[in-house]
Amino acid sequence: MKLRAVNLMLLWRLSAVASFSPRSSSPSSNGVFYSTTQLLAKPKRGAIVDTYRTVSVNCNNCRQRLFRYKKKNGTKSNLIKCYVERIAEDSAGVLEQHAPVGTTKELDYSSIVQDLPMGHGFECPACGTQFARSAQIHGLPALKLVGGKVSMTKK
Ligand SMILES: [Zn+2]
Repeated sequence: MKLRAVNLMLLWRLSAVASFSPRSSSPSSNGVFYSTTQLLAKPKRGAIVDTYRTVSVNCNNCRQRLFRYKKKNGTKSNLIKCYVERIAEDSAGVLEQHAPVGTTKELDYSSIVQDLPMGHGFECPACGTQFARSAQIHGLPALKLVGGKVSMTKK
């Protein structure tokens, strides 16, 4: 019993030393940090998203409405990316024009974007301004918006 306690103490001291040495501490503490971040940043899906406010995403150049989008805090915070599955309405046909020719079933925006190459540019159909690129964010098909090219309005 006594020996075991000493061993545990020794182990504890060893691990304390290990975690204070810069070489071993940075990868291990980063590992913990990253997994926690990923857990927190994992995008919500399903019914909860339906409760989010719908905002209008508009071309900043010509004011054409591009999408109606389910956004958690409405227009309060900046729009940096759009998860494709949260796009409520493809108002200007930006996604629809990328649908495979001859699609008869209901359009699935996510699979349209997923089938495009990463970094594919999306343009405003009205004025031709590129406002986004296709991306995968936290494992979901998304549009990464180009800074300053879109503006948001309520509904
Ligand atoms: Zn435009």
